[in-house]
Amino acid sequence: MDWQDLRRRLDGPPRAGQWRHAQVEEELDRLESLARQSRPGARLERSPLGLSGEGRRVDLVRVGRGTKHVLGWTQMHGDEPTHTSAVFALLDLLIRQADDPAFASILERCTLWFVPLLNPDGAQRDSRYNAAGIDLNRDARHTATAEGRMLKQAAKLVAPEYALNLHNQNHRKRPAGDPRPTRMAVLAPPVDASLVGRAGSQPPNLAAAKRLAGAIAEAACPLCEGRLTRYGADYTPTAFGEWFQASGATTVLLESGGIQHGDSPTAEELQLFSLLTGLSLIAHPETMPTDSSAYTRLKEVASEPLFDVLVRGVWLARPGEPRPAGVDLGINYPNRSAARPDATDGVVEDLGDLADRYGIEELDCRATPHAVALPLPAGAVPEPTDGAPVDYRAIGLEAAQNSASGTVRRGAPADLVIAQVGRSGAVDRLLAVIVAGRLAWNDSQPAGQGGA
Ligand SMILES: [Zn+2]
Repeated sequence: MDWQDLRRRLDGPPRAGQWRHAQVEEELDRLESLARQSRPGARLERSPLGLSGEGRRVDLVRVGRGTKHVLGWTQMHGDEPTHTSAVFALLDLLIRQADDPAFASILERCTLWFVPLLNPDGAQRDSRYNAAGIDLNRDARHTATAEGRMLKQAAKLVAPEYALNLHNQNHRKRPAGDPRPTRMAVLAPPVDASLVGRAGSQPPNLAAAKRLAGAIAEAACPLCEGRLTRYGADYTPTAFGEWFQASGATTVLLESGGIQHGDSPTAEELQLFSLLTGLSLIAHPETMPTDSSAYTRLKEVASEPLFDVLVRGVWLARPGEPRPAGVDLGINYPNRSAARPDATDGVVEDLGDLADRYGIEELDCRATPHAVALPLPAGAVPEPTDGAPVDYRAIGLEAAQNSASGTVRRGAPADLVIAQVGRSGAVDRLLAVIVAGRLAWNDSQPAGQGGA
């Protein structure tokens, strides 16, 4: 099924945004009651897998009655909700349109098992970690967490032939040789060297995982404008992908990445498409590629990530220094995640010569003589309200230049005014203001005279 075929079958775009435990339970209630009216092969069975560290119920759901058992789990990192949306949209489609041949064959040939929201305590606090602060994807070896134990319990119950490890990716990753954010990444998690044969032969399930991951990536690539990578494949014995792969299940990790508001398809749609592509391949093994060349050909992740905002070529004015220094400023929003895509509490991550780096947003001041970054104490600049121009006079540029806080430094809140100063040193026109990382443009209003 191609993207347009899938889009025609959707009632609307899958829900976006964070999932909390109560919402997941509500959605499962809805799907369960929807499934009661569907045909038997599309019935949804739901059973409690156990309780999270803080006592939230985690469910295992099952649909289909085929011989190929597929186990997928979402939000083992609580702040990565996109796949939870995609899985619910998938279940909705399979249940509602169970007679559609494309879906009927998946339900007949596969039994799908999903753990939506494995880490409800993390989701409750928009956090990667569980309530105890543990990264569940580093708990595969010791299983110190209730959530990690539940995932192993699900593996024992299902004995999956296929395992789908479903995540979001840091939005600052980019493919090697491409300055744009990665939209999707796939990985066939590697296995320990002891499982690789003497002649370098890999276990059959790992080889199958590479063929499956490569085929999913190939199908999704046009929807990502080629912004698709093979995730870094260092062997991580504490990660669950590796654990499942070592256990013999054909395991694939799928991650969606830097997809912005207004991009089409959305992250949720892209993941739904990838899941359906993967499940169709599993249901119809004759359509699976015979080698893993599509996987091997995928671009790797660039070693240098993007900045959220990169300001190129500003002069940094520091009180008491006769000559301002020319620098680039790399600014990140450390609290931005798939669960909090609008977080703009920026910090200066790096400053200096960043000519070899890229920003998701870039502000190029090089063609603007005398663009100056004026260090201000955090909170000194009022946040602009939507549509309303910033009252630059109220900012007090004179005070800013004499500000005691003086220096822009790494880790400092990105509360900067980028100003263009005339030859006399007087501020005659403001270019932009970054307020706690938020860019608001204003290049027309004169801002009065500031001191220099
Ligand atoms: Zn993750």
